[in-house]
Amino acid sequence: MLRRLIGYSQKVFRLSTRLIASFTDRRPEPRISTATVAKAAMVMFWARMGSLNALEMSGASRFWKHWLGQPMPSADTMGNVHSKMDAGTLREAIHQVYGGLKRNKALPDNRGISLAIVDGHESHASDLRHCAGCLERTIHGRPGDRIQYYHRQVTLLLVTGAPSGRQPLRLPLDQEAQRPGEDEVATAVRLLERVLVRYPRAFDLVLADGLYAPASSTSCWNTINTYWRSSKMNVGISIKMPLGCSIRFPPFREPIERGLASGGTSATWFRGRR
Ligand SMILES: [Zn+2]
Repeated sequence: MLRRLIGYSQKVFRLSTRLIASFTDRRPEPRISTATVAKAAMVMFWARMGSLNALEMSGASRFWKHWLGQPMPSADTMGNVHSKMDAGTLREAIHQVYGGLKRNKALPDNRGISLAIVDGHESHASDLRHCAGCLERTIHGRPGDRIQYYHRQVTLLLVTGAPSGRQPLRLPLDQEAQRPGEDEVATAVRLLERVLVRYPRAFDLVLADGLYAPASSTSCWNTINTYWRSSKMNVGISIKMPLGCSIRFPPFREPIERGLASGGTSATWFRGRR
């Protein structure tokens, strides 16, 4: 299965020669290329190995010599290179994957609407290890309060329609790390400002959870609204209510805040089609 996946990716997306070959990082004189490290990490996720140590332990397999063209980097090297990897080249590779899928008509819409979901995710938490980018929270426990360090990022996920009998494709287009001292909505605004420029036609509807609902997320809404207005699109809004029903307003021409007054549990924004 892994070999088929690699074969498909090489053929359709030119994974090694085009996508991954462009990756760079901040090491001044790298002995092991960024592409080698990325190729190893990609298989780690595909094979669901779970950790860099598990990956290192599989290093004796002949597969690696064939796939990487050199021995497997150590777990320390893998971690070090990823911490210095240039996010811009990664984003560009995702954009190329998106472009390829779009050209191949592999991103069908959902009953006429292209959907994107914006949401925050925590990748890991620790009581001991932390870095300058860590967020902190106080955990109240029996032995007393303690500080926990964690990272959260806001991801924008494209969700396609599903042909009958098949799962919809879920393609993460971009993500942004939440910085210390800011809330998730502020991170989402930064993410959307970048995504809306890079993917101007990728989605018509943005779905978000209650955190982004009207009162707290005027800034988030304004970002989308301003962009879609400047691209001369009609703007509408749909608010998802409890029990699964949703209210959809027609495209607005007045300030959007007025339409957001009916507190739902989650808010979605969409761009009306002409
Ligand atoms: Zn950290």
